[in-house]
Amino acid sequence: MAATPLDLPAFAPGSVWLVGAGPGDPGLLTLLAAHALAEADAVVYDALVDPRILALAGPRARLTFAGKRGGKPSPRQPDISAKLVRLARQGKRVLRLKGGDPFVFGRGGEEALALVAAGVPFRVVPGVTAGIGGLAYAGIPATHRAVNAAVTLVTGHNTEGDVPDGLDWTALARGAPVLVLYMALKHLADIAARLLAGGRGSDEPVAVIAHATTPRQQVVETTLGTCVADVARAGIEPPAVIVVGGVVRLRAGLDWQGAAAGRTLEPDPLGLRTRATG
Ligand code: SAH
Repeated sequence: MAATPLDLPAFAPGSVWLVGAGPGDPGLLTLLAAHALAEADAVVYDALVDPRILALAGPRARLTFAGKRGGKPSPRQPDISAKLVRLARQGKRVLRLKGGDPFVFGRGGEEALALVAAGVPFRVVPGVTAGIGGLAYAGIPATHRAVNAAVTLVTGHNTEGDVPDGLDWTALARGAPVLVLYMALKHLADIAARLLAGGRGSDEPVAVIAHATTPRQQVVETTLGTCVADVARAGIEPPAVIVVGGVVRLRAGLDWQGAAAGRTLEPDPLGLRTRATG
């Protein structure tokens, strides 16, 4: 590959790049991800990778789907890892493309360890994770100085498809000022009940952001007490991230996409100025 002004690393034949594609908007791809797409011989992609991103693959790239589709069983993780190893050993430049960030609830670590075990060289290219970038597109900062000094990323779904019991939901309810839940839509009722039982108020702000950063983005602003009914009413479909905590209030001031569509933004959504003077 010719050196670019950025001096991006060469995609060596026989190696695997484990790349995050971000939450959807192709504009959120990293330069390394775009470079890898242009150079790859084989692209092994997941269900959550946006078709507009796959369209950036070079003409010689062979695209293989390795995700869940239409209720059919997904390929087993060891089979995917074995496929990556096989393609790399054939001397291909193998791009393993995952939604969001490969190391955030993306099983990227498992695949990378399989490459290590097989002696296949690899690189990891982080991506914008849905639980941070998706919030930004909804006008919700993951942290805000006056609100939270921590943000906790949580999965609502373990490998068996259940709410993870290994998590101390009471501790999360008490100690995590802002929770960002991935894969949690199906179990929202259960999770909301656990957080309420753990002491979180029913008026706690919640936002559900579906298809974040894509033209189908849909946001429901609700509360812990009413989120289940509100999500059902809005007909929200996965994928969605769910934010629980005070940062959701900032959306009234920071919904920049809404503003572009005519929403009036509130410059003091937390009421801090009023409080300071009043
Ligand atoms: N590695 C990914 C997460 C994969 S787990 C990342 O870093 O973003 C799949 C979950 O990610 C979905 O159930 C959903 O909670 C979230 N997700 C991924 N893409 C999303 C999108 N465009 N909008 C909302 N949530 C998304």
